Amino acid sequence: MGKKKCIWCLSLEQEESFKTKAHTIPKSLGGQSYNKNVCDKCNSYFGSRVEYKYSIEEALKEGFNISRRMMLLSGNPKKKVGGFKSRYFDIRERNGNMTLKVLPSFRFNEPFQKELCHAFKRGLYKLFLEELNRQKGLGFDEKFNIIREFSRYNKGDLPVIYFDRSVGIFMSIKREAETPILLFDRMKYLYSNEKFVEIEFLGHVFGFPITDVTEEDFKNYITNSKELKLGHFNGWKKIEKLIDIDIALSIMKG
Ligand SMILES: [Zn+2]
Repeated sequence: MGKKKCIWCLSLEQEESFKTKAHTIPKSLGGQSYNKNVCDKCNSYFGSRVEYKYSIEEALKEGFNISRRMMLLSGNPKKKVGGFKSRYFDIRERNGNMTLKVLPSFRFNEPFQKELCHAFKRGLYKLFLEELNRQKGLGFDEKFNIIREFSRYNKGDLPVIYFDRSVGIFMSIKREAETPILLFDRMKYLYSNEKFVEIEFLGHVFGFPITDVTEEDFKNYITNSKELKLGHFNGWKKIEKLIDIDIALSIMKG
């Protein structure tokens, strides 16, 4: 009798199969770790074009692919791990320089931007819950149901805060672009409590609630978080469109 339980649909091993590898960080972004507590049905859901013209994973990759490529260029990687063919951006590298062309399939109109951002946010929450579970064995608790509903069942809309950097990215993080990892509470400027979490991934810093919160919880969170970020970040915003994120990490060009 198996003991596994899916972190997403909460099915047991007797009910669903757990044969395929569920990468917590997409393989084409260099991800090497996978979560054993994701059933095949849920794993395939995140990789399939069910609600959108792209999968949740593809939306996540579009948001991180450019900055990863930029970091790889600046860090002289020894080997190439993973590669993602974007459908929205044409990235060319020549003699250590990168040129970025926005393809016609990427639209700046509001409905498209909002939809893509919605899918990206669901992917970000997915990455978080699967890594939390993989690293700390947490995530089955009822308090995380809002994440399951949002990421797996597309119910509701959860906020994601994006913090705008004012200083560059630490070399140690740049070096991780080849095989990016998600570390909790690594930097002093990352603030987390029992209701909110902040993560840094490929140079981008995001904050979001991990359970039901009140307006007051949110205000307190922002106050505490801003304090820690003085001198490192300019400001924050709730992302509504994918272009609210500095997907090309413009700070690296400076
Ligand atoms: Zn499942």
